[in-house]
Amino acid sequence: MSKQKELEKKIIYHKQQYYTGRAEISDAEYDNLEEELKNIAPDSYVLSQVGFTFETKKIKHNYPMLSLDKRRNPDEIISWMDGEPCMVSYKMDGSSASLVYENGIFKLAKSRGDGIFGENLTSYFKYIKFPAILFCDPLKGKTVEIRGEVCISRNSFYLLADKMSSKKLERPKSIRNIVAGLLHKKNDLELCTYLDFIAYELFCDDLKIETEQEKFNILECEKFKTPWHTSIKNKTEFNTVLEEYQNSIESGDYLTDGLVLAINNLKIQRDRGITAHHPKGKMAFKFKSDVAETTIENIIVDVGRTGKITFVAQLSPVELSGATVRNVTLNNAKYIENNNINTGCQIEITRSGEVIPKYLKTIKENGVYELPQQCPSCGGNLERSVTGIDLMCKNFKCTAQLKGKIANWIDVTGIENIGPSTLDRLYDLKLVTTPIDLYSLKGEDIADIDGLGKKSADKIIENINTSKNLKFATFLTALGIDGLGKGVAALIAEKYPSFEHLQSATVEDLKSINGIGEILAGNLIDGMNKFGSELYKDLLSKGVKITGETVKKGDVFKDKTFVITGKLSKSRKEIADFIKQNGGKVTGSVSKNTTFLVCNEPSESSKSKKAKSLNISIISEDELFKI
Ligand SMILES: [Zn+2]
Repeated sequence: MSKQKELEKKIIYHKQQYYTGRAEISDAEYDNLEEELKNIAPDSYVLSQVGFTFETKKIKHNYPMLSLDKRRNPDEIISWMDGEPCMVSYKMDGSSASLVYENGIFKLAKSRGDGIFGENLTSYFKYIKFPAILFCDPLKGKTVEIRGEVCISRNSFYLLADKMSSKKLERPKSIRNIVAGLLHKKNDLELCTYLDFIAYELFCDDLKIETEQEKFNILECEKFKTPWHTSIKNKTEFNTVLEEYQNSIESGDYLTDGLVLAINNLKIQRDRGITAHHPKGKMAFKFKSDVAETTIENIIVDVGRTGKITFVAQLSPVELSGATVRNVTLNNAKYIENNNINTGCQIEITRSGEVIPKYLKTIKENGVYELPQQCPSCGGNLERSVTGIDLMCKNFKCTAQLKGKIANWIDVTGIENIGPSTLDRLYDLKLVTTPIDLYSLKGEDIADIDGLGKKSADKIIENINTSKNLKFATFLTALGIDGLGKGVAALIAEKYPSFEHLQSATVEDLKSINGIGEILAGNLIDGMNKFGSELYKDLLSKGVKITGETVKKGDVFKDKTFVITGKLSKSRKEIADFIKQNGGKVTGSVSKNTTFLVCNEPSESSKSKKAKSLNISIISEDELFKI
């Protein structure tokens, strides 16, 4: 077979696997295959076939649904912009869909398909939340096509995985392929309630829209979710966005795989024309993904706060995207088994966008890894988790778990200045062996700890005291129960606003909360019985106040635009949510439209310099919450 034929066959095969939720290779590897084919046969029909089409009833797109050309170097983006102001948005990583509205009412949804014909997705959209009727002035009563990406948030993915296990379906392993997988399911369509539609494109023949900005304004007026976006004019502004994007890759709510740039002026954008496959007025930016081969020298076993055993491979040091990589995580026991990983085996790792290196695949096996039977911290016997994915230490007195629980407590309740080494010392000296001990600490007890000193000791005590007012949802998250993150805790606290309310709840009751599965419900009740109840009573006796949810909702920030930067005590997302709940807007870069820059140490960041030059008020985190 010729090299071209071979590549075409491979690409079609992997495309098919991807679109049926069974991807075998990473996106980076897939991109490399396409790149390779592009080099030897730029006109191959396989390259113009955007999605994988099935033999189902197809619907023609009124406007071709082209894919975007991509660049991997920021300088290439700048030369492509050619001085034109652009709208830049995060490129959502899900499945593209196009929604057709007739007379302002939702009629059908279709996939991208081959760009000319899409598959009918309407029955899946019965379960996805999106505006089914267009209310705002420009679109009301019109025939419109709205395009976007069907995505799943990281939080919803966890809930979905739980739900699928409880329905005895195979637990999804990767957030990357699950959306395409769900949109091809013939049964259990209701699982699509976990999906979101994020809109970014709009077509309407009898409406004159002049800019990309206007498009987003209209979509937002109709209450569509939209990807994070901002407008840029030059290289400096693009670099600011790039920096912001890099920070958000691992922590954002949704998976993204780059940036989309579109020339803001739609006439100029159209005038640039189209190639056979791509519009020339739009461009994607993706980080170069590098791949390297190395050998696993050792596998380090550790235990986390929930008792889950974690595995990290120590590698023969290897250069990857300009850095030396020495470790990669191997996730869990099942992962090691599934991928035939062992010490001495040869593997491929990848790294893209300067983020954490990841294991890709095993190239040369080296026998079967013997999974540990004893906990590396307490020596207790390990058991498989209910899902079969993890090995667990079930000893509730396990030191690593206890330390992990305290560390999580400190993190979630926002107590500052107690880092891992201080915590280790506090634990070893038996000053803090449970979260409750934190509230009995005295300055003089800890001032003598290695180099801490009176000043730092007093600061720690002050921080502990100011953290004594906890919301009930924070208390739940701080317990460190497996799977109980902030999002889930908020859902629970909405229905059970206090400890007393929650005490009477059964697994069945908890499962009735949309998105909470059997396993999580069981973990929560188990955790409450084993340590939550006692901890709760002890906390009250130490003067900690735990109150029901009083999320301030209103419009105090209406028409105000915020930019958040620098070191903060809360997560960026938490602060952004607070602003949005109060009617404000959060953007990534400072411009003349910015009302406030939220920044605790104004002199240090480039954003604060820019804010000063534009006369924009700089406020601290504390000041924000007092507005
Ligand atoms: Zn243990």
